[in-house]
Order: sequence, then C-alpha cells, then structure tokens
Amino acid sequence: MIGDNLAYVRQNIADACTRAGRDADGVTLIAVSKTKPVEMLWEAYEAGVRDFGENRALELVDKYEALPKDIRWHMIGHLQRNKVRYLVGRVAMIHSVDSLRLAQEIQKEAEKKQVQVDILVEVNVAGEASKFGGSREDTLQLVQEIALLPSVHIKGLMTVAPYVQNPEENRGIFRNLRQLAVDIERKSIDNVSMNVLSMGMTGDYQVAVEEGAACVRVGTGIFGDRTVM
Ligand SMILES: *Cc1c(COP(=O)(O)O)cnc(C)c1O
Repeated sequence: MIGDNLAYVRQNIADACTRAGRDADGVTLIAVSKTKPVEMLWEAYEAGVRDFGENRALELVDKYEALPKDIRWHMIGHLQRNKVRYLVGRVAMIHSVDSLRLAQEIQKEAEKKQVQVDILVEVNVAGEASKFGGSREDTLQLVQEIALLPSVHIKGLMTVAPYVQNPEENRGIFRNLRQLAVDIERKSIDNVSMNVLSMGMTGDYQVAVEEGAACVRVGTGIFGDRTVM
C-alpha cells in the first residue's frame, strides 16, 4: 500500500513539475510519519524514502534511534524550547522556527554540540489564529534577528496552509510565501538564503509544487488516515 501511494504521489509531483516547467529533482518529498509505527516507516524506507517529517520531538528521537542513519529527519511541528536539545545534531532541518527565543535556544545547543543547524522560518500567511508562525510583516524582522546567530542558518520559509476542500483556494497562500521569500532574498542578508519553500500537504501539494515548493510534506497521502490506526 505505502509503495503504491508513494508511486502515485511521486507521479503527481512529476506531473506538477512538468506543468510548471520545473525539474522534478528540485522537489523533496517529505514523508510525514507522525503517529505511524516504525514498521510503516521501514516500508517507506524500502520504497526509497530518505526524508521523514515528524511533529513531536520525542517521537522523532525514538524513530531516529530505530531507523537507518542515512535518513534526513525534518522537524515540522511546533517546537518548545525545552525540546530543542533532543533535535540538534539529529535533524536535517527544523521547519517550524517562529520566534527569536526558539532560534536562540537552537544556537545555544548548536554551540554546545559544535554543530550547524539549518532552519526555516514559519510564516502564518493566512493569519489563522489557530496556526503558529509570524505574520508576513513580522517575518523580515525575525529573519534579520536570527541571521545574527552564527550556528543557525536560515534556508527559507515554511507555511501550513488552511485546510480546504479545493486546493486552488491555497494557491494565493503559496504565491504569497514565494513572494515574501523573493522580497527577503533581495535584501541580501548575510547567513540567509531563501532557496527552500516548505509548503503543500496531502490536499494541496500539487498546487504548492506549481507555485515553487522545494519541500512538500505529505502524510495521509503516503501512510493513510491518521484517525484509523
Ligand atoms: C501532519 C502535517 C503534515 C501532513 O499532513 P497530511 O495532510 O497528512 O499530508 C504536513 N505538515 C505539517 C506541519 C503537519 O503537521
């Protein structure tokens, strides 16, 4: 089942790339495995997945310990400062940095462990009260502040779009995130690149790819519904 789902999602990504005139190698499919047992991650691993996304630090650590070390782990969920130490040195990227205080904690831990940490700044493009991430207006300032932390490297922006029936409804959100990245890129801030846009989930990843996503985060479309366990 997971192998078939993956083939389907990969084909959809390739088709979206063709429509947008993009190279499919420019899109990383992150398999969002939160709540799913290690056996299912193994199945995805055997089908070629090397990028996994988790939204809870301790669950990520458990799976990190259980699975091969060539996996790139992505922290995509809201992160509390007291959990940062579990992730630094283990994850390839933290997608959900939404405050200077969190970034400072990552810096502290990175210094202690003598490692560099790649992050994305989370933006609440739609301004939903239920979502994490700063507003578009606040993002530039946050990026400028985090840029001063020597072991923390901003690689781009991330957003969680609203849940919608028709994915076209989120096209404007993805376009806004890309425009914001372009605007920030133009400022040529030291220690900041805007190459990675992490956007698009099961319901809307094709639209996100058409709008320039570098990472799509797909859970249900690969592992099935999380409510029927
Ligand atoms: C759960 C989650 C996803 C995946 O959602 P699906 O709709 O199952 O694809 C993507 N991004 C974040 C931040 C998530 O928490």
